[in-house]
Amino acid sequence: MTRFIFMTGGVVSSLGKGLASAALGALLQARGYSVRICKLDPYLNVDPGTMSPFQHGEVFVTDDGAEADLDLGHYERFTGRPATKKDNTTTGRIYLSVLQKERRGDYLGATIQVIPHITNEIKDFIREKDGSADFVICEIGGTVGDIEGLPFLEAIRQFGNEVGHDRALYIHMTLLPYIPTAGELKTKPTQHSVKELMSAGIRPNILLCRADRPIEAEELRKIALFCNIDQTKVIPALDASSIYEVPLTYHAEGLDDQVIDAFRMTESPAPELSKWQEIVRRIKEPEGDVTIAIVGKYTNLTDSYKSLNEALSHGGIANNVKVKLKFVDASEFDHHEEDIVSALKNVHGILVPGGFGARGAEGKIKAVQYAREHNIPYFGICLGMQMAVIEAARNVVGLKGAGSTEFGECDVPVVGLMTEWVRGNDTEQRSGNDDLGGTMRLGAYPATLKEGSKVRSIYGADELSERHRHRYEVNVRYKSQIEDKGYLFSGLSPDGELPETFEKLDHPWFIGVQFHPELKSKPFDPHPLFVSFIDAAVKQSRLV
Ligand code: GLN
Repeated sequence: MTRFIFMTGGVVSSLGKGLASAALGALLQARGYSVRICKLDPYLNVDPGTMSPFQHGEVFVTDDGAEADLDLGHYERFTGRPATKKDNTTTGRIYLSVLQKERRGDYLGATIQVIPHITNEIKDFIREKDGSADFVICEIGGTVGDIEGLPFLEAIRQFGNEVGHDRALYIHMTLLPYIPTAGELKTKPTQHSVKELMSAGIRPNILLCRADRPIEAEELRKIALFCNIDQTKVIPALDASSIYEVPLTYHAEGLDDQVIDAFRMTESPAPELSKWQEIVRRIKEPEGDVTIAIVGKYTNLTDSYKSLNEALSHGGIANNVKVKLKFVDASEFDHHEEDIVSALKNVHGILVPGGFGARGAEGKIKAVQYAREHNIPYFGICLGMQMAVIEAARNVVGLKGAGSTEFGECDVPVVGLMTEWVRGNDTEQRSGNDDLGGTMRLGAYPATLKEGSKVRSIYGADELSERHRHRYEVNVRYKSQIEDKGYLFSGLSPDGELPETFEKLDHPWFIGVQFHPELKSKPFDPHPLFVSFIDAAVKQSRLV
């Protein structure tokens, strides 16, 4: 029997509902249950694929090619369960589907309304998960009281009634702000937020109260009294020093016990948490540190590289070192050569991550050149591989006009628009005039790895499958010209048409990949490329 847990948030946004859902998922898994986590986003975009990373953070990509909310990344990292297209929806997608049905005539002339048509569509999204796990956790994006969130609250209220309250649980996450002049944490915003939720017909079973300092028993008692919730179910959720500590701290505060209790599951095993304890121990007791420069564009919102930051930290966990990140804005040395030296001088590894558009491209190419000439470990991801190939073409092969058509016309398009590629038994086709949303090469694709290559030895396999999200590709026509100069396209699509990995031969560590390995890295299963890159950075740190 599947039990459903709904996670809502109140008072302010960015409380960490996604992390809380992921941590609860990990705790229930540690008790031996299977868990699936999904996210309902109230915004109108059909998916976050076209949203600026500045505004919304990273776009997470699933194996089956969905461009999804970055919280799905948390879910995957904490539970190890690969997310799918069906684990994320938005108001836009819900309406799109209802309107398509309306146009098809599926509603037989009925007047289409938010209740029941939109709410039914939302409930269908949730109900589809019934039977797929012991627990389904559904996070509702946004904050209680938002206009666009109302149909979602109404839908989960109805859903709870329909499946029965022994199968549905509501957790509400709030904030207790500290007011310095009063010298105390305030409970009033929580009271108001619960009231708001109750006016939508939902009485929370558990409150998760975020605070930046311990919550006094008196305050917990007050919340319990005013919000009409058992005090054992008012759970402090204090700031943790690492996100991977959150399952342990929530467990210590009784979250999973209270969930089990609320469902009246009397015979639940205690969770086996040694895996998490070991990760936290390694994070807290590193044997040294390395500094990695991330040369990108979205550097003023680190959420835009969420999975990347995490994957680098996983590489650190595996190597027993702390990974310090230095975000370098590539556009700053698009035109000023000298700045690059001061920005990259003492780092132990340079990484150019995925990205879009011309701004910062020249700066990124200079960063590649710096890494190549100074034998500093270099890791290029997606756009970062394309920049490495352009740098090789220009400065090593001597093709001065080498560039990418993404940045406008160029004489030697070593990177060009991808118009056709193979997916399984089908061929996908695109043109320059396609919609921007959902038309990239998305999701998992395999690559065949060359014998004797570094990438093959890192993977310990002759094939890989990794997630993609790009529109341009390295043109295979330039392959042999570049390889003649000491490089190897070590991974190719099975038909040999699309370069997937690129490495420089006489260099301590110089690898570019056309896919996003960071999306599959987990703290307890770190991605081999990140483990190897951080290992190279550790070696570099001993040299400088
Ligand atoms: N802008 C490049 C492309 O579309 C790279 C995309 C990426 O780095 N994810 O091919």
